[in-house]
Amino acid sequence: MLLRLRTGLTGLDYDAILGIAKELGYEHRFLDEARTLLELRGQPRAGARGRLEENAVVAQVLDSSDAPELHERRGRPDTLVRVRSAAFGRSQASLIAGPCAVESSERLFEIADAVRAAGATLLRGGAFKPRSSPHSFQGLGTEALAWLDEARARTGLGVVTEVLDPRDVDRVAVVTDVFQIGSRSMGYAPLLQEVARVGKPVLLKRGMAATAREFLLAAEYVLAAGNEQVLLCERGIRGFDNTTRNVLDVGAVAWLKKHTHLPVVVDPSHAAGRADLVPALARAGIAAGADGLIVEVHPRPCEARSDGAQAVSYADIARIAAEARAILALDGRTLSSLQGPAPTPGTATDDNRRAPRKEPACDVR
Ligand code: PEP
Ligand code: MN
Repeated sequence: MLLRLRTGLTGLDYDAILGIAKELGYEHRFLDEARTLLELRGQPRAGARGRLEENAVVAQVLDSSDAPELHERRGRPDTLVRVRSAAFGRSQASLIAGPCAVESSERLFEIADAVRAAGATLLRGGAFKPRSSPHSFQGLGTEALAWLDEARARTGLGVVTEVLDPRDVDRVAVVTDVFQIGSRSMGYAPLLQEVARVGKPVLLKRGMAATAREFLLAAEYVLAAGNEQVLLCERGIRGFDNTTRNVLDVGAVAWLKKHTHLPVVVDPSHAAGRADLVPALARAGIAAGADGLIVEVHPRPCEARSDGAQAVSYADIARIAAEARAILALDGRTLSSLQGPAPTPGTATDDNRRAPRKEPACDVR
């Protein structure tokens, strides 16, 4: 490990940092006369980087190759996360689709049938909604969980739903196949540790102002608790321009695929904030290497109780699936599918790829 120390350190400062290095089992040597470049050698130890990074005499960790963290790839193959018929990682990708929030049993079952036919293998839908305003719709809670359970029984789709409060983890665990941790909760360690304990896969959304490193350190909480089934979800970060709701960080998607062994899922809906841009961002996410998509779908966006403007139609979700399949095939990858009757094939021809997409509308679609 290579550390750059601050300048103007006292003898006591050197004693302190060398004492910690010794305690961690490292041999040390200074690489320059001014004693600012400190090389540490020894057995790789998880946690060593954090201990040194936080020390006041360390200006920067220049190389941490022998202080591994659990998310790091270090030559490992992709971690494959399997959930019922869905698989994320290696050469497999999956589509998660459904409403932003669960609104009624009838609407949920109708959307579940439609996204299943389009090629999704997992159904999303919030029972507990993390809203910016306490006055906005907060989700239907326990009732919605029961409908998600029923939707799974009817369709065979696995369930992805958000948990906001560590006190709700056990009741959400009874229903969900994947815990969603929302952008607003990404760095909330007690929640991460509580969901990790259950042992089910965790879809961890990147905080809207989190660096890629902060995102990975949040994932590290789940991994360090002994749960390796983490799906990293890039959902756009806050930018200066409100043309789109957030800025989809496709560069981070490509970087995460190199730097970690964890599967990456792209959420084009919360990145775009408007339905007509969602298919393009979905294509970009898969092309950048994502192992899956999570997309919001609603047949009547004007009736949606949250995020209606970014919900795509049934026709669009089928097309998004078809386009994802076509892009994955270029890489020798496939989109997972449910056993049983084949999904309605959407065809990604040049013609329909270029067809203009309408602004979000409120008519029946
Ligand atoms: C959602 O998935 O509906 C949601 C609230 O997402 P995010 O946490 O990314 O804002
Ligand atoms: Mn939403």
